[in-house]
Amino acid sequence: MANRSVLARDQLTGKIVHISDVEEGYERAICDVCDSRLDAANYFRSTRKVAFYFRHRSGGEGCSSMTMLHEYAQQIVRDRGVIQLPDFEASVYPRNPKNNVEPLEFNRTGYLANLLNPSLEKNYPTMRKLIADVHGTEPEVGDLYVEIKVHNEVNEEKQAALRKAGLDVIQVDLRSLVDLPGLTKEQIQEAVVFSATREWISQRRFENDLLSLRQQMRELELQLTSERCSTRIVQEEKGLKKKDWRRKHSSELGLLEAYHDLENRRLAVNQFWKWCQDPQKPENTVYRKLTGRYGGVPPIVNIPVRGELAFKAHRTYWQTLIFEGVILKIYDDQMRKIAQQKHKNKRFYYGDEIAWLSDLPSIYPADIYKFLLRSGVPLTTLASAFEELSEEEPLAERYGSRPDSLRFVTVKEYAILPKPVPAIRRYLKALCQIGIVSASNDIFFIPFQSRPEVDQSVANYDELAREGLSEYGW
Ligand SMILES: [Zn+2]
Repeated sequence: MANRSVLARDQLTGKIVHISDVEEGYERAICDVCDSRLDAANYFRSTRKVAFYFRHRSGGEGCSSMTMLHEYAQQIVRDRGVIQLPDFEASVYPRNPKNNVEPLEFNRTGYLANLLNPSLEKNYPTMRKLIADVHGTEPEVGDLYVEIKVHNEVNEEKQAALRKAGLDVIQVDLRSLVDLPGLTKEQIQEAVVFSATREWISQRRFENDLLSLRQQMRELELQLTSERCSTRIVQEEKGLKKKDWRRKHSSELGLLEAYHDLENRRLAVNQFWKWCQDPQKPENTVYRKLTGRYGGVPPIVNIPVRGELAFKAHRTYWQTLIFEGVILKIYDDQMRKIAQQKHKNKRFYYGDEIAWLSDLPSIYPADIYKFLLRSGVPLTTLASAFEELSEEEPLAERYGSRPDSLRFVTVKEYAILPKPVPAIRRYLKALCQIGIVSASNDIFFIPFQSRPEVDQSVANYDELAREGLSEYGW
C-alpha cells in the first residue's frame, strides 16, 4: 500500500499540519523524512468514503507516517495550553526490612493542568544542555515540562539530570498511535492532551509530602527499634533475676528434681506404708483400728491420688482422718441436729430430707487441709520447702495461678510438685465418684443418704486409683 500519512510539513509555515487542516488539493506539503512533495488526497469532502491523506508524489516506501507525530504533538500542547497530568504513586518502605511495617502509600490523582506561555524546544535549567519538548508555567505551581515519546524516550541519564535539577517533567507516550492509519485531528489531540499513557519522569511538587512520609516511617522504625531494645533489656533483667533466684533456691529445686525420679517416689510411699505398722508412729493407731475393725485397710481410705506425697504419711492415715473426722463427723452432727429438731418441733417438721437440705454444711478442700495440719499430718520436706517459699499462699493446681514468689519455677517443675490442697481435692473428687459427697465448683456437700461406711465397697476402685498410681509408674 502506498504511504498514506495524515501529517505533513507545511512548507509555507514550517509547521506540521494534519490533512484536515489544509485546503483541497493543497500543494505545499512535503514529507519530513525524504523531503518528497506530498499530494493532498482530500477532494470531494462531502462524498468521500475513505479517509483523507497525504500521498508521496514519488517514493516514500520507507517513510514512517508518524515521524511528524512528535512535532505535531508538541504543537498541540503548545496551542491548546492544557495537558492532563498523570497520577502519581509512591511507596515509602521501612529502611530496615526486619521492621515489620507496611509501606506508607502516597497517591495523587492527575488533573488537567493549564500551561501559561507554552513554548517548544526550551533549554532545561540543567548542567548539561538538554532540551524540553514543551515548557510552560502551571499557575500557582510553577514550571512544567512535557516530553513526547514517539520513537525516542527520555533515557536514564537525562532522567537523572532532570531529577537532580528538581524539575517537574511528565512524559506522554504516543507509541500506540504510530500504527493507526487515518487518524483524525481530533483523535490525535484527544490522545495527546488526555488519554495517551503518561507518567512523571521527574517531580519536585510531591517532595515535601514524600519527605514527611519518610519522616513518619523513620519515627515508626525508631519506635520499633527502641521497643525491641527495651523488651530485650526487660528480658535480660528477667533472665538474670530468674538465674539468681534459681541459684539461691537450688536446694529446693534439687528436692524437686529428686522427686521427679519415680524410684524415689516408690521408696517414699513404701516407707510411709511401713510407718503405718510402726507402733512409734501416730499413723499406727489409725492403721491398727482399721485392720482390727475391717481386717485390712478398706479401699475408700486408700485411694492413690496425684500429689499425695505432699503429705509425709501414708494416704491411709490422712484419708481416714478426712473420712471419719470430716465426712462422718458432719454426717453424724447433722443427723443429731435433725433428731433434736424433730423432737422439739414436731408440728413444723417436714421430714428428714427437707431438714437435711435446709442446713447443708459446705466442705472446702482448703479447710480440710487446715484440719489435717491441726491433726498433726506432716508435710514432706519437698512440699513444706515450697510452702515456705510461697509465703503461706496455698499452692494452686494451675501454673498460671501459682504464687508470685514461685514465678521462676518452670511449668514442668510446677506440674510435678506435689501440692497438698489439690491432693485433698482429688480425694474428695474420688469420693464424689463413689457417691459419698457431691460437688459444686470447689465446694463439696454430703447429699442426703444413709450413713457412709468406711468399709463400703468401691466398684470402680481401679479407675479411681489409676492416676494416683501413675505417680509411681505403676
Ligand atoms: Zn517521505
